[in-house]
Amino acid sequence: MTALAERMVQQIMSNGPLTMADYIGQCLMHPEFGYYTTRDPLGVAGDFTTAPEISQMFGELIGLSLAQAWMDQGAPDRFLLAEAGPGRGTLMADAVRATKNVPGFHDAAEVHLIETSDVLRAAQTKRLEGVSPTWHAGFETLPDGPLYLIANEFFDALPVRQAERTENGWAERSVGLKAGALKLGLSPERPLMALDHRLEDTKPGDVVEFSPVAQMLAEAIGRRIEQQGGAALIVDYGDWRSLGDTLQAVKGHTTVDVLETPGEADLTTHVDFEALAQAAPCQHTRLTPQGVFLERLGITARAQALAKTLGGDALEAHIAAHRRLTHPSEMGTLFKVLGLYPQRAAPPPGLEP
Ligand code: SAH
Repeated sequence: MTALAERMVQQIMSNGPLTMADYIGQCLMHPEFGYYTTRDPLGVAGDFTTAPEISQMFGELIGLSLAQAWMDQGAPDRFLLAEAGPGRGTLMADAVRATKNVPGFHDAAEVHLIETSDVLRAAQTKRLEGVSPTWHAGFETLPDGPLYLIANEFFDALPVRQAERTENGWAERSVGLKAGALKLGLSPERPLMALDHRLEDTKPGDVVEFSPVAQMLAEAIGRRIEQQGGAALIVDYGDWRSLGDTLQAVKGHTTVDVLETPGEADLTTHVDFEALAQAAPCQHTRLTPQGVFLERLGITARAQALAKTLGGDALEAHIAAHRRLTHPSEMGTLFKVLGLYPQRAAPPPGLEP
């Protein structure tokens, strides 16, 4: 049993079962034993690889899309260039480098990073030398100003609750005990107001996930963007409406049991983009496949330009990376992009209203 599992067993013995969201939150963010608290999970040696770690083109094109959105909104002379869950800082470093020739952009930009993990903050410090970002544990402490935000594989790491439809309402999944070990359980059925709109497209036995934390963050981001200007690009796997149990535990690039190694495996769920779009009190773009978004931003031209400087294995790897980011059988359609932007502004380039 992991150290965190032992703590959880004690906790459940004294306070009763955990909701799924409590369980996920502790697994990822426990201040002592949480998955993100204790390690850098990214890359070949870690548990999973993300788009910015696959190719520099990803962060470059996102940086340019945000820079164009900034110009379209009148190029305000001070703004926040922010990232939620920046991982190793690779995306932000690529975005900053790619935008250095956009007139006035760097002078106006203040870089802000929302990150809870000290291990990853250290990696970001190293990668972003010369950029001098300001770190935040949450969105509440961001200073005022137009907000140009990127969140890649951030929302999939936020805790979700899971409910099973019953004849008369919903029974929420919980984590309890059996013979001294963690075991999935179900709370007694009851109505759940947050899921009233799902009564129309579900039947008894279906599982629905919802994330109060994700919705609260989308609301806070959307309100700021509407009131102070800016744009957000939210990139993740998921769909317009989620149905079914999508909770996954991944360790060393393979799937493991969700309850087996709390604190030592990454836990993610597919993002319900509809819930984010509806929580945000500003305009949202159409949900767009990552491959389409990157093609519209000119990834093929950028890939060809970079290819001219490469040869041998580096060239092979570059071609494979381009394919991995855009091809429908790889990340191209599984990953989607949602843009948030103010009323009366243009959507960020690469996306449509
Ligand atoms: N965006 C990066 C990393 C994705 S991993 C990339 O694409 O490579 C998820 C990131 O979100 C990590 O940096 C993790 O520490 C951070 N994170 C997860 N939950 C968070 C929370 N509740 N608040 C702030 N950061 C969080």
